[in-house]
Amino acid sequence: MVSSGQLEIALPGLGPDVPDLTSYRWIVANVSAGKDSMAMLAELMLHATAAGVVDRIVVVHADLGDAEWDGTRDLAAEHAAAYGLRFEIVARTGSGLLDRIEERGMFPSADNRWCTSDFKRGPVRRLITALVREAEAAGHVGPVRILNVMGLRAEESPARRKLLAFTHDGSWTCPCAECQRRQRKAKWYKARKLPVPKHANPGWGASNTLRYVDTWLPVHSWSTTEVWTAVWASGLRVHPAYAAGMPRLSCVFCVLASRSALVRAAQLQPELAARYALVEAKTGHRFRLDVSMAEIIAEAEASPEVAAVACWEG
Ligand code: SF4
Repeated sequence: MVSSGQLEIALPGLGPDVPDLTSYRWIVANVSAGKDSMAMLAELMLHATAAGVVDRIVVVHADLGDAEWDGTRDLAAEHAAAYGLRFEIVARTGSGLLDRIEERGMFPSADNRWCTSDFKRGPVRRLITALVREAEAAGHVGPVRILNVMGLRAEESPARRKLLAFTHDGSWTCPCAECQRRQRKAKWYKARKLPVPKHANPGWGASNTLRYVDTWLPVHSWSTTEVWTAVWASGLRVHPAYAAGMPRLSCVFCVLASRSALVRAAQLQPELAARYALVEAKTGHRFRLDVSMAEIIAEAEASPEVAAVACWEG
């Protein structure tokens, strides 16, 4: 058990770094089309090819519409096609991110990342539900084992450094032994009206009675240099935002981005920056406590060129 409360379990089968890919019915590769996703996909392909389970991989891109850099969705599809993999786009039903910010009257923040849960995790879970149904329709009996694979890396932020490379995506409705043990403990605390500590909380993960879901971060320990080496070796096309100076490919204006990255993004996408500033003015809520979009725009206009763009902070 770790401080994040993630469910640490022994990797089944193949040793310390790679789960037994043959034990999963589906391998869901979450891609942003950015460099970490590209490295993750290359690494996953190596292991899935060796295990003979490439046909179980489903590449998924959570589409954030005009909050993303132009061409992101097509590039994600291009990467999946280069490996001959099935590709799915998922998106939140209803308004896009910027409209949703206006509806809610607030921007997401490092402490309240409703953008990720609403626009990425939720839609990917709906795909997982559809994949379970697909497996059942094909004759699968019992909980469907699914491996959720992501390109998160420890170097990216203090929060990501705390993550484990392999965890069970446990929940209050998962019938596995570890989740049941946690459910019993959690009920003990609840019965006494005590807060449930992290080590006793089964979590709000994707597992339930119909599916057993684990999460794997194959490039979690990789350095940025190792990532770029894998990206160049893959021979796949890289998003032009990197050549323009962006250190990461995410939402153009990510609430977790460094100030210099936001300023560079405002130089590259002034119209989108102006739309964010308008939402800021309408809602009376700043883009971020430490910096408003209006300040970012002013800085972008005053700086002819941002020489060094720092990576993300959150
Ligand atoms: S990239 Fe940043 S703003 Fe966009 S969904 Fe992720 S955390 Fe939220």
